[in-house]
Amino acid sequence: MSETTVSGASGVTVATAFAGMRGVAPVVFRAGCPDCRGRFELAASALRLAIGASHRTTFYSFTCPDCGASVRKPAGERIVELLTDGGVRTLRLHSTV
Ligand SMILES: [Zn+2]
Repeated sequence: MSETTVSGASGVTVATAFAGMRGVAPVVFRAGCPDCRGRFELAASALRLAIGASHRTTFYSFTCPDCGASVRKPAGERIVELLTDGGVRTLRLHSTV
């Protein structure tokens, strides 16, 4: 029996996420804004990750520090892993597995 597994992103487990969070210096993620074309680095706390039932509904979002636009981008398996490892808040959009 496996415990809570992040569905929709095979291979990513809660254990992986915790391992990445332990004793690591604050992680920053490079992001770009499609609106103002700004490029910047965001702390994990500035990002949100939403995991849906399918790849189409799995995305990450943030607010552009330059122009204030809310940006939403699709998150593939690798990105999901990266973000959860970095301590980004994860929202599960589907309640049933
Ligand atoms: Zn912007």
